[in-house]
Amino acid sequence: GDKLPEHVLAGAAGSGLPVQELRAQFPVLHQKVHGHPLAYLDNAATTQTPLAVQQAVQRFEQHDRANIHRGVHSLSQRATDAFEAARATLKRFIGAGAEHELVFTSGTTEALNLVAQGLWAAGPAKAWLRAGDRIVVSGLEHHANLVPWQHAARMSGAELAILRPDAQGRVHVDDLRALLTPRTRVLALTAGANATGERPPYEEMLAMARAAGALTVLDAAQAVGHAMPGLAQLECDFMAFSGHKMYGPMGTGALAGRRAALELLHPLRLGGDMVEWVSYESAGWAALPARLEGGTPNVAGAVGLAAAARFIDGVGRGAIDRHLHALRAQAVAGLSAIPGVTVLAPHATQASLVSFVARDVHPHDIGTLLDERGIAVRTGHHCAQPLLDHLGLGPTTRASFALYNTSEEVDRLVAAVARAIEVFQ
Ligand code: PLP
Repeated sequence: GDKLPEHVLAGAAGSGLPVQELRAQFPVLHQKVHGHPLAYLDNAATTQTPLAVQQAVQRFEQHDRANIHRGVHSLSQRATDAFEAARATLKRFIGAGAEHELVFTSGTTEALNLVAQGLWAAGPAKAWLRAGDRIVVSGLEHHANLVPWQHAARMSGAELAILRPDAQGRVHVDDLRALLTPRTRVLALTAGANATGERPPYEEMLAMARAAGALTVLDAAQAVGHAMPGLAQLECDFMAFSGHKMYGPMGTGALAGRRAALELLHPLRLGGDMVEWVSYESAGWAALPARLEGGTPNVAGAVGLAAAARFIDGVGRGAIDRHLHALRAQAVAGLSAIPGVTVLAPHATQASLVSFVARDVHPHDIGTLLDERGIAVRTGHHCAQPLLDHLGLGPTTRASFALYNTSEEVDRLVAAVARAIEVFQ
């Protein structure tokens, strides 16, 4: 096929990651699927976990497992310490400042629901969101950063305004400026769109919205593992992320944010551990972060998530990001050269995924043929149906990369897509 551009080859060769060494730490990768070595290219949905994460979880389960904050006994103390140490590790990992706190959640979805619901659930007298206010949500969002805001708008009487992408799937600062009014109380935005790979100019957008008096919400699910400025560098009130997209356990994640902003949230889960005192009639809530963590948390998961953060820091986020860039550039170049294939957001600069459509071939057929060759990709709407509708596209095929993917795997992807198009067109 076509020779790859020099900068792509240079990037792939020069990313500096010891990929084979790293692959040895991910046992799940060493298997065959339909007789072919597994090429796992569905990392935007869920990454795999390294031994370090699996061992951290197992160590906790074998030595320290107990409920936290409740017991005077030694295991309960150790479990509490492990949970709080995990919180401290993650705060460092995301670059939180003294003004920030981190609340453990089951993932990005719960974190975003906690914010969206927390801003109206205190009722019209006390809540941040009231009738006549405006919520601005970008048109690039995963359903997890749209549907909770639709509900918040309905429940509070606020208006939902969408920052619409252009025909190439980009959002623009000037369009945001036009949407900001004195009644704009929230901007919710992604750091990387999971359906297209688009990376909005979120630093500038968050700053602009915050200067206009809005609370700013960043969905960092697709960025936190490789390409994020520190939280303290951003004009960001709330930031949500998932553990399973950064080499951590499934069902883990966090909402981090400015303490003053977190204080505005009505808790999502009322019950044990989030109260200071309780009578039959009433209750007083505990201080942050416990106030937003009602019920028994996923302590082993938090421990594993902290191990994932240490693993990423050990490899180096800069090196990971360069590696992902090189793989994406190689995939964009290779796929774009196949007649009939259109790559979405080919210009995107910080995403670790490539989403594409092929004329007259359904993504489901492409995905099935790829699976027969051991290549795992995602097909469908990627929980971002309004965006794909807006762009006039249907479902897409998405390949997404992690630190353990190789340029040979990208070659296999490109060859298999070319073959699928020959077969089905
Ligand atoms: N936001 C983005 C950008 C995502 O890519 C995803 C997952 O695909 C989510 C939110 C939801 O994450 P979770 O399912 O871990 O809650």
